[in-house]
Amino acid sequence: YHGLFNHGATCYLNSVLQVLFMTEEFREAVISMSSSSKEYIDHHLKKLFKELLQRTANTKNILKALEVNYVTEQQDAAEYFEKILRKTSENAAKIFRGRLSHKITCLKCQTPTDSEGPFWLLPLELEDSPDGNYSVENGIKMFFTSTIFDGDNQLYCEICDDKVDATRKYVITHHPDVLLLMLKRFDFSYQFMSYIKINCKADIPHTIEIPENQMYELYAVVEHFGDLRGGHYDAVIKSKDEGDEWFVFNDSSVTQVKLIKAFYCQKIMINIQVVKKYIISSSRSIGAYLLFYRRKGEN
Ligand SMILES: [Zn+2]
Repeated sequence: YHGLFNHGATCYLNSVLQVLFMTEEFREAVISMSSSSKEYIDHHLKKLFKELLQRTANTKNILKALEVNYVTEQQDAAEYFEKILRKTSENAAKIFRGRLSHKITCLKCQTPTDSEGPFWLLPLELEDSPDGNYSVENGIKMFFTSTIFDGDNQLYCEICDDKVDATRKYVITHHPDVLLLMLKRFDFSYQFMSYIKINCKADIPHTIEIPENQMYELYAVVEHFGDLRGGHYDAVIKSKDEGDEWFVFNDSSVTQVKLIKAFYCQKIMINIQVVKKYIISSSRSIGAYLLFYRRKGEN
């Protein structure tokens, strides 16, 4: 595999572009596009992906198309992932698009209000577990658990014409082929009245179950190391072409890493103790930010 040049602080873009490139369905959809419609950036992605198949590539055209004027400014990889998909044709972007409904129920009059819309990612709150690590599985459970709004958080109900206790519940109405989970490491702290970066260790499962009964399998992780405004992004991605080996894409460098495989596939490791030791002693696990899961039972 080939890397992408860093044009200043553009590692946030490189990491998501490598995930898009390594998502075969997306790569094939982009490369087989025949139109060069200016409405979308597919033709830029197509050129980049073709170049990546040959050599280390540069992202100048993509940066221009995404209206990035200051290449030395660090940006949020999740935001740029969404930006790229919004500017990509439906045929390629649909792989990542799911639909989510959220149902609000007034606990006074019992009237439910349903609203449904598309999503590119599910944001998961980071909650410390007793052992100090963050559990993605618990994060998923929390996301799909009904939330109660009471006290200062009461919601307005049109029927009662008053602020009322209410519940909110998310339900996935369309499971995307690729599900992106975002660990909310960049969050607003009311204690400090500013945005902060949460550096807790994350325990990442190899497979997850999303309600109702949909299994997903991990194939890529975008990591962020360092603080809020600076720091560095890279991407750890499983290659289907290379017999499910894992590679670290760090700007222009691409390396195969055996230990990473052990870490991200911990659920299928026999020697759990060795893996646990690695997680605790490693700084890598504090970086996981975007987790890409592929829907199982599709291929
Ligand atoms: Zn009501």
